[in-house]
Amino acid sequence: MSFEALGLHASIVKAVFQAGYEKPTPVQAEAVPAAIAGRDLLVSSQTGSGKTAAFMLPSLHKFAETEPAAAGRTPAQDAQAARARGERVRFKAAQPKMLVLTPTRELALQVTTATEQYTAHMRRIRAVSILGGMPYPKQMQLLAKNPEILVATPGRLIDHMESGKIDFSQLEILVLDEADRMLDMGFIEDIEKIVAATPDTRQTMLFSATLDGVVGNMARRITKNPQVIQIMSATNRHENIVQKVHFVDDLSHKNRLLDHLLRDETMDQAVVFTATKRDADMIADRLNIAGFAAAALHGDMHQGARNRTLDSMRRGQVRVLVATDVAARGIDVPSITHVVNYDLPKFPEDYVHRIGRTGRAGRNGTAVSLVNHAESMNVRRIERFTKQTIPVDVVEGFEPKRSAAPRSGARPGWKPGDGRGGKPGQRSFHKPAGEGYRGGDKPSGQREGGYRGDAPRTDSGYQGQRREGGYRSESAPRADGGYQGQRREGGFRSEGAPRRERSGFGAHPRSADSARRTFGDR
Ligand code: AMP
Repeated sequence: MSFEALGLHASIVKAVFQAGYEKPTPVQAEAVPAAIAGRDLLVSSQTGSGKTAAFMLPSLHKFAETEPAAAGRTPAQDAQAARARGERVRFKAAQPKMLVLTPTRELALQVTTATEQYTAHMRRIRAVSILGGMPYPKQMQLLAKNPEILVATPGRLIDHMESGKIDFSQLEILVLDEADRMLDMGFIEDIEKIVAATPDTRQTMLFSATLDGVVGNMARRITKNPQVIQIMSATNRHENIVQKVHFVDDLSHKNRLLDHLLRDETMDQAVVFTATKRDADMIADRLNIAGFAAAALHGDMHQGARNRTLDSMRRGQVRVLVATDVAARGIDVPSITHVVNYDLPKFPEDYVHRIGRTGRAGRNGTAVSLVNHAESMNVRRIERFTKQTIPVDVVEGFEPKRSAAPRSGARPGWKPGDGRGGKPGQRSFHKPAGEGYRGGDKPSGQREGGYRGDAPRTDSGYQGQRREGGYRSESAPRADGGYQGQRREGGFRSEGAPRRERSGFGAHPRSADSARRTFGDR
């Protein structure tokens, strides 16, 4: 299958070749023809699968087909002419033809950058990002150009809608990118409000890691007779990523092992995930002192600093990015060879997003989780979610004092290479539910990376709470003298609590009483 065979306009085919794409990815091969035919789409595919082009190329095709031959004046040009005539000019609301909603600013910028590549040979198609944290005057300038395509995070978009700066009456295409994540971040009301402001005649494409549960319900409400596309590519199953668990005894063991792993010859660039912003800063500092070119990336950083850090990563000046989940969403740096979970993620789906930072654009990657014995339950939850086992591996010279948790029938005292449970040096946790191992070499109340072994959880965890940035949960101080995880990015919020747009920068209060709208008949 070639891009030409998908029926795309010649100017788009030329641009994707220039972007280095030789043939469509599986999600593109399925989604592009269906979208060109005008179908609504519900697509379950992971980040890294080429989903941006899957929704953007057919949309651009539609615009290319209807692109006016004679260039008319933009509202900004009209305004300039009116001012020249001495008339008073009022701001005219932007009337985009396409809206892409994304959960994070990084992803929005990534979508906009990709769109600029794909429109290299199209006249009069502009894509702009409308993001929390961006100065309002700058956004007004962008909107005054009446861009055809808006890529936005929901909170800031609502502000502009409510102040009459954006009018969706001419909208033809609505895309919800990483819809599961937007719902997870508590954007449901904003999404409902935005969808309700768009015409019923629109084409809707929803992309999500899963189409089950709440996302599935919303997806069905906002689409009409959608074509459902579920891509289980090797990338989706992360077959191109070697996954491992290394057990650690304590933080000092964990830090020594991290240093060792980062010196691996096969490592080009790595992302190290921490549970808290504070740990991200501290570990980045420590790694710098140890001679690694490291940088932190988290939601307390200004957008400019976040962009500069990502640019340095892309240019290879930063080799190790120490990041929290929220900030790392949407990182697309193909040379990332390793992902290290210094702390396990709070939600199993975040594990999938984290490891998807490596093995991008058809490459291979390695994802290593450094796991305290008390956290073995959380590895099992991830395994249940991904329906894959994660082998336990031991690095020579860094063996944990305690043998791995007895989860797969192995007896305590199991040693690497004793012939039990898979390859020497590797063993899986997998075992039927019910054989609980009450790990815990720390007193309860102390936690590392947000987990407390099998202890009853009241603080959230995998129990379905929604979370978002702006709120903090304080963890107990650590007794072992290591990094004290105190602030958790993407903290928790109880239902109905007022929230701020996630991120610590440019956050603006959004009232809890913002209109609850239903989706109507769509
Ligand atoms: P996405 O899933 O949209 O985030 O894309 C992941 C990465 O794959 C990005 O770096 C894209 O530029 C790249 N990509 C998308 N489509 C193709 C393709 N057909 N061939 C090669 N690379 C692609």
